[in-house]
Amino acid sequence: MAIGWYSLWYSLLTQQVIEVRNDIIPFKGFLATCIWPFLFVREGARELTAEDKNHETIHGYQQLEVLIVSLIVLFLLSVVFHVMSPWWMFAAPFVYFIWYGLEYAMRKWIIRQEKPYRKVAFEQEAYTNENDLTYLKGRKPFAWVKYLMK
Ligand SMILES: [Zn+2]
Repeated sequence: MAIGWYSLWYSLLTQQVIEVRNDIIPFKGFLATCIWPFLFVREGARELTAEDKNHETIHGYQQLEVLIVSLIVLFLLSVVFHVMSPWWMFAAPFVYFIWYGLEYAMRKWIIRQEKPYRKVAFEQEAYTNENDLTYLKGRKPFAWVKYLMK
C-alpha cells in the first residue's frame, strides 16, 4: 500500500497499522517499529507473527491517543490561551516518542529498574497483551496509564 494522507483514514477505519517494508526504519538489529499509522519492518526481515503485529498495533493505538491529547493541549496553550506559538502544534506527533524516551531514562537512571525497556508503560501494555489477539477489540482507551506506576 502506498503512503499518502489517506493512510491516516485507512488506518482509522480498519483499525490496523499499515505495514511498510524499507531499509531505514527501524535501525539495523531491530525487526519492526510502529509509527502510527505505519508499521515499519526492515527489508528482508522475517514475516511478522500475529503476536508481533498485535504488539505493534497496541503501540499504534497508544500513539494515536497521545497524539490527540497533545494536539488538544497544544491547541489550548497556543490558540486559546496564547501561552506559546501555534507552531508548537507541529510538535504533537513527537510527544509520544519524547515521553517514551524520558520514561525510559527515568526508569533506567533515576529509579534504576532492571530491564527499563520492558518497564516503559507503553511496552508493559504491549508485552502483557500481545498474545491475546482479541485484546484490541475490548481495550479501553489509555489502558497504558495504569502501567505507569508499575
Ligand atoms: Zn513494543
